[in-house]
Amino acid sequence: MSVALASEAATLRICSPANGEFVGEVEIDTVESVRAAVGKARNGQPEWGARSIRERCEVMLRVRQKLLENTDLIVENAAKENGKPRHEGLLHEVMTQLELLTYFAAESERILAPQSIPMRLLKQRTSYIQYQPRGVVAIIAPWNFPNHLGFGGVAMALFAGNAVVLKPSEFTPLSAQLLRRLYIEAGVPEACLQVVNGYGDVGAALIDSGVDFVEFTGSVATGKKVAAMCGERLIPCVMELGGKAPALVMDDANLDRALGAVLWGGFANAGQVCASIERLLVHEKVYDAFVPKLVERVKALRVGDASASSDIDLGPLVNRRQLDIVAALVEDAVAKGATVACGGHRIEGPGFFYAPTVLTNVTTDMDIVNRETFGPVVPVMKVSSEAEAILEANRSHLGLLAYVFTRSGSRGRRIAEQIRAGTVMVNDVLATAAAAETPWGGLKQSGLGITHSDEGLRGLCEARHINYDAVPWLSRELWWFPYEAKNLPLLRRLINLLYGSGLGRLFKAS
Ligand code: NAD
Repeated sequence: MSVALASEAATLRICSPANGEFVGEVEIDTVESVRAAVGKARNGQPEWGARSIRERCEVMLRVRQKLLENTDLIVENAAKENGKPRHEGLLHEVMTQLELLTYFAAESERILAPQSIPMRLLKQRTSYIQYQPRGVVAIIAPWNFPNHLGFGGVAMALFAGNAVVLKPSEFTPLSAQLLRRLYIEAGVPEACLQVVNGYGDVGAALIDSGVDFVEFTGSVATGKKVAAMCGERLIPCVMELGGKAPALVMDDANLDRALGAVLWGGFANAGQVCASIERLLVHEKVYDAFVPKLVERVKALRVGDASASSDIDLGPLVNRRQLDIVAALVEDAVAKGATVACGGHRIEGPGFFYAPTVLTNVTTDMDIVNRETFGPVVPVMKVSSEAEAILEANRSHLGLLAYVFTRSGSRGRRIAEQIRAGTVMVNDVLATAAAAETPWGGLKQSGLGITHSDEGLRGLCEARHINYDAVPWLSRELWWFPYEAKNLPLLRRLINLLYGSGLGRLFKAS
C-alpha cells in the first residue's frame, strides 16, 4: 500500500494565533522527499547506534547545553507560533526538555544494560535480554507543546541509538526547525535527525516509508488511523492520545491547595493540554466553599498576546477550528441547562481567544462532559460521596490523567487506585509530565503504550532474548531425539515429581 498526498500548497504559512501576524513558513514535503528523509536516517543510524551509550549521552548533554543557551529563542518561538505565555514556554517547553535530557543522560547506561532472567527450571541454561536500537523511529507530534512533545520523543529515540524522522504539527513547524538546528550544532549526526513537514498525509507517507517504529501523539480519531496503518505494516507503535481528566475535590481537601491546582490544571496553556482538568467533581460538603472562590480566581485570569506581554496567564487557542469546537461545546451545555458562572464567550478582536469559563449545573448528557474540550473551560459537577465521585471519574471513554484532592494520604491512594487512568496524582496536577522517570501513557481510548520512564526508553529498543548454556559440557538433553519408549516412564516420573508431588515448588527462579 502506498500513500499519495492530497494537499496542493507548497508551503505551510504560520501566522500568530494571537494577532494574525505572519511568523514564518516551511516547505511541505512530498512523498519522495519523505522517503528520501527516511533513507538518509536509515543510512546514518548504524554509526550512531554503534556508539557506546556513554558517547551518545555525552552528545545529548551537549544538546542540553545548546537548549540552555537558546532558552529565550525557544520561548520566543513558542510565544509567536503557538501563543504560549512566556512562563509556560520556560516551564513546559524548555525545562521539561532539560529535565528529560538530564535524566536519560544519567540513566540510559543502567536502563539499557542487559537484564538477566533468573531461570526456574532450566538451571543448566542462562538468559538475558539485550536492548538494541530499533532503527528509524517516526515521531508524529501535535501542536500544543511543539518543543517538549516532539523533541521529548526525538531525544529518547536518540538516547536509544535510533535515527529519527519527526513530523511536527502543521500548525507549529517552526519550533522543530529551530530545535533540529540546535541538536545538529550540538553534535547529533545530521542524517540521524530528519524533519518532514506537512499535513496529515505527510504523516501517513512517513508511516508508509519503511520506518521501524511510530510514536504518535495526537487525537483519538487520528490515532486510530495511525494504529491501523502500523497494524497493516506490523510495526510497533506508541499512541499518546486525548484526555478528559477528572479532578475530585473531596470533603476533607485542603481547599486552598485544591483551588490553585484546579486553576492551573484547568487553564494552563489555555486548557490545551491532554492532561487538563476537563471535569471537576466537587463533594457537596465543600461545594459552596470552593466553587464561588474558583469562579473569582478564574475571572481574574489575564488573557492576552504572549509576544506583546509577559504579564498574561492565558494565550489564544491554536486556530479557528479549535475555537469553534470549544464554543460549540459550551453552547451545547448551556442549551441543556448548564449555567455559565464566568466566561462562556469568544473574545472579540484579532486572535482565537476564548474567555476562561466555569460551567455549573452540568449533567452527564452534555457533550462538555463526554468529549475532549481542549480549551479554557472547566465544567463542575456536585457529588455526594466518594463512591459517586469514583463512578463519575471512570465514566469516560478516555483515561489519561486524573486528580484527587484530600488531606488523607491513605484515602487519596485508595481513591486513586480505583480510577482507571494512566496516571492519578493526589493533591497535584500536570507535574509528572516533567518527571521523565515516571511513565506517561493513557488507558482506554487515551492510548497504547507509554513514553518517558525506563520502560519507555526500553520500548524504543528491540528487546532481544539471548539464552546460552550455563553448563557447557552437557552433551544432550533428555527430551531430544531419538524418542525411545524406555525413556517415557522416566519423563512421566519427572513430570509427576515436578507438578504432582510438590517437588517443583523447591525450584525457584534464580
Ligand atoms: P491531530 O490528531 O489532529 O494531529 C496530530 C498529528 O498527526 C499532526 O502532526 C498531524 O498532522 C498528524 N496526522 C493527522 N492525520 C494523520 C494521518 N492520517 N496519518 C499520520 N499523521 C496524521 O491532533 P492535534 O490536534 O495536533 O493535537 C491535539 C490532540 O493531541 C488532543 O486530542 C490531545 O489530547 C492530544 N495530545 C495527547 C497527548 C498525550 O500525551 N496523550 C499530548 C498532547 C496532545
